[in-house]
Amino acid sequence: MQKNWLLFFVLILVVGFFAVGAFSTAHAASEPTVAVSVVPQQWAVRQVGGDQVRTLVLVPAGADPHTFEPKPSQVAQLAGADVFFTIGLEFEKAWLGRLAGAKPDLRVVSMLDGNPSDLAVHAGEAHDHAEHAGEAHDHAEHAGEAHDHAEHAGHHHHHHDGLDPHVWTAPQGMIRMLDGTLRELVRLDPAHADAYRARHARALERVQTLDREIHDLLRIIPEERRVFLVFHPAWGHFAESYGLRQLSIEMEGKEPGPGELAGVIREAARRNVHAVFIQPQMSRRTAGQVARALDGRVIPADPLAEDWENNLRAVARAFRMAMSGGGQRTGEE
Ligand SMILES: [Zn+2]
Repeated sequence: MQKNWLLFFVLILVVGFFAVGAFSTAHAASEPTVAVSVVPQQWAVRQVGGDQVRTLVLVPAGADPHTFEPKPSQVAQLAGADVFFTIGLEFEKAWLGRLAGAKPDLRVVSMLDGNPSDLAVHAGEAHDHAEHAGEAHDHAEHAGEAHDHAEHAGHHHHHHDGLDPHVWTAPQGMIRMLDGTLRELVRLDPAHADAYRARHARALERVQTLDREIHDLLRIIPEERRVFLVFHPAWGHFAESYGLRQLSIEMEGKEPGPGELAGVIREAARRNVHAVFIQPQMSRRTAGQVARALDGRVIPADPLAEDWENNLRAVARAFRMAMSGGGQRTGEE
């Protein structure tokens, strides 16, 4: 009798051990954690990953990525990620420098092509710089880079290379992000590859449908009215996709001087532009000034909204309204 009880306990222990072991392994394997920089990237990861993937967003909704500084706790949280998807924003370089300290082996992948990000190299460099601070700068080139980052830290620095990093404002950019996400999730979690591929295909279809819808929406705008004015030039890829021209108040990521501002206002007035589009994360002061000069309105257009799909549709409609002459100030304003 005693022997049977003993056997029973041993059996429970063994079964329990394997059950717990199996559960924790299954849990870890089924839930990859993907870190991203900005909210629209999270949209892409959710489309492909569904409930099987956890996402960490570095710049929370409502914050301005240009001026955002991650807290040490966020950097620490990021160390729990399996992969970090970069999107080509300038500040990622500075963050990766810090991350390299928290988790040197963090996998860093460009969301646009699924390849290991070249920023990872920069992260290593930045780390190096910190380590050898004070030593003579024999790498003139790299020293210059580090200097650049320090100088523009926290400011609108991500446009200084002349490239528009807001690739997600065009459906074609979102498609590249979905592709990059699929490739990496399949690599991280091959057990769910079929589910990822199925969701990716559905998301692709939705993005393509949205793209056609926006084409149809904007087709009617006559050639001479295909211009919109924004405060921060986040809509360059959108403009390019739909044959529009983006005018911006900011120049090279900085507020314009009085002369430049007057130039923007002249150009906008000449092109019959009234409305000024502004992203809610930024100050309305200068935009309001320009709108008054153009007898127009300040209209929100958020490039960082959580619901990427419906937001892009809404922004396209707002652009169309403005380009059709609907951006003028009304009586009560
Ligand atoms: Zn920007």
